[in-house]
Amino acid sequence: MKKQYIIPIFVPHLGCPQNCTFCNQKKISGQEKQVTGEDVKKTVNDYLESFKEEAYIEIAFFGGSFTGIPVEKQEELLEAAYEFVKEGKVNSIRLSTRPDYIDKDVLKRLKKYKVGTIELGVQSSNDYILKNCKRGHTFEDVKKASKMIRWHGFNLGHQMMVGLPESTRIDELNTAKDCAKLKPKIVRIYPVLVIKGTKLEEDFNKNLYEPLTVDQAVEICKELYNFFEKKHIKVIRMGLQNTDSISKPGSEQSEVVAGPYHEAFRTISRI
Ligand code: SF4
Repeated sequence: MKKQYIIPIFVPHLGCPQNCTFCNQKKISGQEKQVTGEDVKKTVNDYLESFKEEAYIEIAFFGGSFTGIPVEKQEELLEAAYEFVKEGKVNSIRLSTRPDYIDKDVLKRLKKYKVGTIELGVQSSNDYILKNCKRGHTFEDVKKASKMIRWHGFNLGHQMMVGLPESTRIDELNTAKDCAKLKPKIVRIYPVLVIKGTKLEEDFNKNLYEPLTVDQAVEICKELYNFFEKKHIKVIRMGLQNTDSISKPGSEQSEVVAGPYHEAFRTISRI
């Protein structure tokens, strides 16, 4: 089977209408500058030079809310990425966005640039939990967006979180079941970490939020992983990975204040 390579392009906080209480994309991606089409070209070329074997290659726009950024900017970034698809150097484009930023016009635009996969930040299917962490959308938005994405022929991805404020194991299992009904092809599971500069950090410092321990996060992620496996839904990520520019809590340069951070989170969650 062909190897798969992802060329990540971080689009931090562009297009976000508000700050979700747990999120500080600039800290997670380690990047505060606006991305341009030229940046996209340079990043992709650098990655392509480093790939030594034949592989299925995807350009992935992560972070922020891609379809919420000004249309001109979306087109500038997509155009730059699409050039590589047209030249046959890259196989596909994927991106992540908010469920309330999907409509027919958006999907038409993404089709034009041959985007293959759209990942939605679901986080929870419990509207109280969503409201509490200031997501600014409901699970109904996730349902609508998921159906439209699949109907228009894109691969659907869902991203969910464990350990959100007031979320319980039952809420998280229910979120997995509710997501599965919408038939995503892939899922990412993120245990909540307390990141510097977030509202969650303030709450943590006031003892209003207690993060999961690594053991608790591993236990629930294992359960969710097995659930999705049984449903034939691929879990492509659990926890932040080493390439996300955060480092171990406690170290001087770390952006993580607290929470279930583990360098090998995915591996230990699948044991
Ligand atoms: S979680 Fe997503 S929608 Fe919320 S602030 Fe971060 S990037 Fe924006």
